[in-house]
Amino acid sequence: MRKDEKRFLFILIAIVAILVTISMISVFFLFLESIYVMRFLLIVFLFALSILIITIIWIIFMLYRISSNKEISSKKYKFLRRILGVVYPFLILISKLFKVDIDSIRRVYGKINNILIKTKNIRVSNEEILVLLPHCLQDSKCEHKITNEIRNCKMCGKCDIKDIVNLSNKYNVDVAVATGGTLAREWIKKKKPKAIIAVACERDLASGINDVKVIPVIGIFNERPNGPCFNTKVDVKKIEEAIKYLLKEE
Ligand code: SF4
Repeated sequence: MRKDEKRFLFILIAIVAILVTISMISVFFLFLESIYVMRFLLIVFLFALSILIITIIWIIFMLYRISSNKEISSKKYKFLRRILGVVYPFLILISKLFKVDIDSIRRVYGKINNILIKTKNIRVSNEEILVLLPHCLQDSKCEHKITNEIRNCKMCGKCDIKDIVNLSNKYNVDVAVATGGTLAREWIKKKKPKAIIAVACERDLASGINDVKVIPVIGIFNERPNGPCFNTKVDVKKIEEAIKYLLKEE
């Protein structure tokens, strides 16, 4: 298990431990307090907590199954995706509390999302795929406006946009560049894709995956050798692999 994955598991277990502690404190009050309303509220609270604890333990078990390359049913896949979306804000909160590197949690979250999508055996046609890119992939000195139309790129090769345009031509898939979450959402509304390949930093990708619940999103993290949001890079091979996977050309 890698460092990022260990941290992720640690945060999940920490959430369970915190919830168990809260439950035990509640049980203590339950026996201490004789007022009926208070007891009733505590019972409801304890019931909700127990469900939450069982759910998180189930998530850990499912993640273990997935990491051992075991198949999960479509129903479990949908439930797991939904429940992870609910648990995600808690993961971030507890990571902050324990001062765990949040990006490593987001990276594992993105990886789990990709693995989950691959268990679903999706197959779409090239017109149904949308590749969403962050604007920071473009060379900062480039004067060509690619946010409306990526084909405005003059293919000089100073940034990865050139190779992505070539990919788009090769597989005939749509590529859109977004300067932020709002524009990304607009592209999705406009293009109505059945599958998305999104390139972004850990934070944007994790929140994007959570935003777009109904469409499968394969996430690819960008590389930031020049610092955040500036002349970033991406492994174009990973985008091609994702396209081939969705087209079932692997
Ligand atoms: S490859 Fe395209 S987007 Fe990148 S710097 Fe050259 S012209 Fe601009």
